[in-house]
Amino acid sequence: MTETCKAAIFTGTNKLEVLDIKKPTPKPNEVLVELKTCALCTWEQRVYQGINQVDFPFIGGHEEAGIIVEVGADIDPKLWQVNDRVVVGLLTSCGECENCRIGEEGSCENFNYENLVGGLDTRGMGGLSQYLAVPVSKLFKISDKLSYEEAALTEPLSCVVHSVEIANIQFGETVVVVGAGIMGAFHAVLAKNKGARVIVIEPNEKRLALLRELGFTELINPTQEDSVSKVKELTNGKGADVILNTVGVSKLAEESVAMSALYGRVVLYSSYHPDTPIALSPNQLHRRMTKVVGSANSSTRDFITAMKLLNEGIVDVKPFIAGSYPLSEVVAGMEAAISPDSYRIIVDMSAE
Ligand SMILES: [Zn+2]
Ligand SMILES: [Zn+2]
Repeated sequence: MTETCKAAIFTGTNKLEVLDIKKPTPKPNEVLVELKTCALCTWEQRVYQGINQVDFPFIGGHEEAGIIVEVGADIDPKLWQVNDRVVVGLLTSCGECENCRIGEEGSCENFNYENLVGGLDTRGMGGLSQYLAVPVSKLFKISDKLSYEEAALTEPLSCVVHSVEIANIQFGETVVVVGAGIMGAFHAVLAKNKGARVIVIEPNEKRLALLRELGFTELINPTQEDSVSKVKELTNGKGADVILNTVGVSKLAEESVAMSALYGRVVLYSSYHPDTPIALSPNQLHRRMTKVVGSANSSTRDFITAMKLLNEGIVDVKPFIAGSYPLSEVVAGMEAAISPDSYRIIVDMSAE
């Protein structure tokens, strides 16, 4: 008889069901991970709502943590053992193409959300399955101090590490973060860690209140004042050295450029839905030597950095965990995740 386990599977738009699937078996160079937590990212929320198109059935989830319950025959026991607590990195990068080999796994040339991964026989990223067979190159060790709930946020934090590294923030620089959803808030926290003065633009009062609790004092509510003029006012007319835009609205990308200082760097972090073109003044870019760059996904290096930030308590993600739902209540968890007031929702993969 084949052994089964449970997984939350997208079976259509607005349809997410907990179904039995074949339990994966690890190859000699893989371990079997029993997942404990999986966070519900915006990407999965868009699949649920039909904004991101996938072929059904599809197993979502790419922010997961768990425990090793079996190791393949070829695994060095000095490196990985049963009972090691681990974060599982993105299983969708191949590790063999040129981009992967130069350390840009987030831009893998063979990347496809619908590859079969983790020893599963249903397509998708796999994090909402109770078990995954994982090659050791995708494992990151969790310290004893860190909970599985916090560890599930390693992937989103790694994407923000990638973005903040691109911005190349220097001590004392002024950084504006546009948007304070969880990714915006992570940008603010990491920019502060880099020694910057941080100004945050966000219309939602609840999010602003949390930022205040976390010690951020320079907050702009764009429904009450004009963001560009306010940033100029706060910087004696100079503008900000770095603008980290985490909101996928084209007009805000334009505003980000408009509020940048001489030699300003503008990072477009979010994806845009719809992808409306923006108007830029070539002369402004020319004269003010502005850099406008994008940032997407993260590399293994960024995962390692994010894991260190969490394991050592340098970054505390607990304020950004909005709640935990057992796997059997994953639909309620998804609905809660979609609400604009909530930060990350965690699915407890071991509770049925
Ligand atoms: Zn994610
Ligand atoms: Zn690749």
